[in-house]
Amino acid sequence: MADSKKKTNLQSSVSGVGGYDATASSGEPIQPSTAFTELLSREELDQMSTLQLIDLIARKLPPRHTSILDLIYLRDRIQQTEELNEQAREALEKLDAIVEKLRSPAFRVGTFLAAVDSDKAHVCLGGTDYVCRVDPAIPLTSLQIGQRVLCNEAFAVVQGLGFDRNGPIVRIDELLSDGRLRLGQESGLSPFVVQRSALLAKEKLKPAMEVRLDANQRVALEVIGMGKRIERSLETVTVLPWSAIGGQDAAVQAIRRSIEQPILHKELFRRFEHQVPKGFLLYGPPGCGKTLLGKATAYNLRQQLREQTGVDRPEFFLHVKGPEILNMWVGESERQVRDLFAQCRERASDGALAFLFIDEAESILGTRRAGRQSSILSTLVPMFCTEMDGIEPLQNVVVILASNRADLIDPAILRPGRIDRKIKVSRPDRTGAEQIYRIYLKDSLPLAEPSADLAKAVTDAHYAKTPDNQFLEIAFRSGRKEFLHRGDMASGAIIAAIVERSKSYAIDRSIEQGADSPITRDDLLLALRKEYEENDLFPPTDITEDWLKLTDFDPDNVIRLGPVRPRKNEGGSGVI
Ligand code: ADP
Repeated sequence: MADSKKKTNLQSSVSGVGGYDATASSGEPIQPSTAFTELLSREELDQMSTLQLIDLIARKLPPRHTSILDLIYLRDRIQQTEELNEQAREALEKLDAIVEKLRSPAFRVGTFLAAVDSDKAHVCLGGTDYVCRVDPAIPLTSLQIGQRVLCNEAFAVVQGLGFDRNGPIVRIDELLSDGRLRLGQESGLSPFVVQRSALLAKEKLKPAMEVRLDANQRVALEVIGMGKRIERSLETVTVLPWSAIGGQDAAVQAIRRSIEQPILHKELFRRFEHQVPKGFLLYGPPGCGKTLLGKATAYNLRQQLREQTGVDRPEFFLHVKGPEILNMWVGESERQVRDLFAQCRERASDGALAFLFIDEAESILGTRRAGRQSSILSTLVPMFCTEMDGIEPLQNVVVILASNRADLIDPAILRPGRIDRKIKVSRPDRTGAEQIYRIYLKDSLPLAEPSADLAKAVTDAHYAKTPDNQFLEIAFRSGRKEFLHRGDMASGAIIAAIVERSKSYAIDRSIEQGADSPITRDDLLLALRKEYEENDLFPPTDITEDWLKLTDFDPDNVIRLGPVRPRKNEGGSGVI
């Protein structure tokens, strides 16, 4: 309100300057005075800037005329206004340019496949191939195979971008001799071939590794770690006849009945319409030979089949530990399990004897768990069942689960048609232990006595129910106390370790004496004592829970279970 009033006052004062009414003659152009037009032509005047005109007027005024200062003030004001105008014009031009850019159509993103000429590039855009011109500002050598490029409306490459961060993951089937990759039939696609991106140019790739493709599915961009993990779990089965396993006759018989017979006497089983298992569960304390039995199954089956049919089917033994799968990021565990089955099936269809051995199976196929694990288990168990239901009994894949805690495995897994054979792998009894000692104290080794004598002597010491051999003390809820002796806690792994330890004593002695010193009874007895003191198969704590897991006692009946005496630390006296 106040502003508009001020403006009106200003206007009226300007329009009445020097008695002239500049606004009165509206429509008519205002003419300069003759004093001006005599000096310069009208055209010349029109071409002059406002500031030049003011300078002209100032020059015409007599020196020290009072209006000269006013003219200098006016000139300064006009100059400021002109500068502001100039800035506004520049800002407008910039905005115009921005609006122009925003209105222009979107760029397309393509995958650079190869340079064609010095100024042309082979680009895949939305699944279609183009040979595009390249902006001369971009050196063609700066573009790498597989990287993304921006293409304008005319499909010219105007900018190089980084590599795709997303894209499908596929498994490599075969490496072609020129470095290209043949990919498998994933998700209903027929097999296809892609080239490597610049990122993978020097990477050592192998079949069965997983790679991520660019969005156009033309280039392999990166290895997704999984292939490497699987490689780690693939185990070669060494020579392992049934005779290399001691004290597990019942388990060996059960395996041979459930796995070997149906494969070796297929016709017979078909005639009797006898249900054939798809796998089995080996359960029992650690170190008693569950893994060994799994591998022996693979080894012996291969030998038997070769003898019977003359065809050698190499084994494919995939050994995974449950916790390894569990420790993966969300969704990855499931994918990993599916992939294990897929790999085994693939190998089986190539003619291999495929075994999927899952150690510590209760960790992924268990029930009664809490926290993050329970949510994973709730998806892993049904998924595992679906995979099991999808395999033909013994046609292709044999699944072996191993667990110390079979009671924790979800019953759904153990239903008929899935893992319906449960085979107990117990701690070796005295006879079994002696057999195992015999296996490891080979006749070919430098032994101070016949192997059988050494084995008998050390087994006697191992299984003696003497106070010296008392190893664990159990206090039952009923008030009764009982001792477990070393023999009660024996395992194949411990026996193998005792023999190994005794070998190291004999070797030390041989070095000292400068001549072969064979393994003696004393070496074995010392090794036996040391092994129980230091073996890491036993818990390092006195916590009842930890020790209970190694025994068959009902936790409800036991109050305390722990080592009889603190472990001796013979190496040092405890004084520093
Ligand atoms: P688990 O899988 O039950 O924990 P492993 O099969 O891994 O036990 O056994 C570990 C090692 O102990 C084997 O590699 C083998 O050297 C030895 N071992 C275990 N049980 C036996 C056995 N019954 N006969 C011979 N060696 C055995």
